[in-house]
Amino acid sequence: MSASLRGEIRRCAFCGAEVTVLARRCGVFAPVCCDRPMLTLERRAEFWFCPVCSSELAAVAPRPVSAFQPVCCDRPMVREIASAP
Ligand SMILES: [Zn+2]
Ligand SMILES: [Zn+2]
Repeated sequence: MSASLRGEIRRCAFCGAEVTVLARRCGVFAPVCCDRPMLTLERRAEFWFCPVCSSELAAVAPRPVSAFQPVCCDRPMVREIASAP
């Protein structure tokens, strides 16, 4: 269950601030900004990991036709499949 929220993006409708869930644990997560609950966006962060050292990064605002290809340990990083359990 906790994995499903990984990469979720919440936005404050008042000031436009955005936050991304990187690692959710078992608590009840309900971010608040400007005294009101933040809204959940359709958009999700994309996660990439290094097959060599297991470093992780999150692309918070990925574009649909992006040529983004991070490299770590001299190897291309691998995109984590969002729908994987
Ligand atoms: Zn706000
Ligand atoms: Zn690495």
